Amino acid sequence: MRYDDFATEHLDPILPERVIRYIPSAMGSHERTIVILTGAGISAESGLPTFRDKDGLWEGYRVEEVACPQAFRRNPDLVHRFYNLRRAALKTVAPNAAHQALARLQREFPGRVILITQNIDDLHERAGSPEVIHMHGELRKVFCAHCGHCGVWEGDLQTVTSCPQCDRRGGMRPDIVWFGEIPYHMERIEAVLRNADIFASIGTSGQVYPAAGFVSLAKIAGARTLEINNAQTLVSGRFDGQFIGPATREVPQWVEEVLGGNE
Ligand code: NAD
Repeated sequence: MRYDDFATEHLDPILPERVIRYIPSAMGSHERTIVILTGAGISAESGLPTFRDKDGLWEGYRVEEVACPQAFRRNPDLVHRFYNLRRAALKTVAPNAAHQALARLQREFPGRVILITQNIDDLHERAGSPEVIHMHGELRKVFCAHCGHCGVWEGDLQTVTSCPQCDRRGGMRPDIVWFGEIPYHMERIEAVLRNADIFASIGTSGQVYPAAGFVSLAKIAGARTLEINNAQTLVSGRFDGQFIGPATREVPQWVEEVLGGNE
């Protein structure tokens, strides 16, 4: 199935009557694989602004200015400055109760818990999550467009920064999947969604594809689906259940219920 199909499909209307209290403790013993997708909303209460909340701007910039390959070709200095600031901001924030609860779920749930994030921050890792699939890349990594070298990068990046592997300049860029680029790990993600018993989407607006289509893939595979968000989203109607509220309250509560139902 092509992910583009999801990008163009008709969006379900929002159906408030489907905002029901999901009962994860009723999870059957056969339900052993939980797949979780997180977005910017899970890191909001840590102090990292989301993308869609304020007029579709990200920290005051439009996507076309800082988050697409054309922007990087047009004004690499601006794009580097933008991501340098985001990278530096990581050092001023800490994981919150929602990141910590998911790390606990990964450690303690007797089945598999696969965590996929659209976030480029490292708060899941710092909360203790043993494995995180970063489908949109990571702020703390860079790669060289000349030789393909990819590595951890803690400081600033500039147009004149030379690659530690090939020594050439001008090719170093944040290891971020920009709009118009293909997300990472899609084959693996599609495979885990096919085996999901439960799919939970947390703090994501459902406007960025292919991630916004994961709920449909999981449903086709027979998973029960849950959305946790502080507001209705464009794709809320596709979920079997919803918890509406701040991630730091709703996620720990859900994790408690899932683990409680599996004791
Ligand atoms: P988004 O900004 O489009 O949507 C955020 C969603 O989270 C909204 O639906 C909002 O209602 C909800 N939300 C806000 N605060 C919340 C809270 N406290 N609790 C629960 N829900 C809350 O985010 P997206 O769907 O992840 O797409 C944004 C894109 O921009 C991603 O691809 C991501 O790579 C990038 N981005 C990343 C970060 C980060 O790494 N922290 C931050 C901003 C943008």
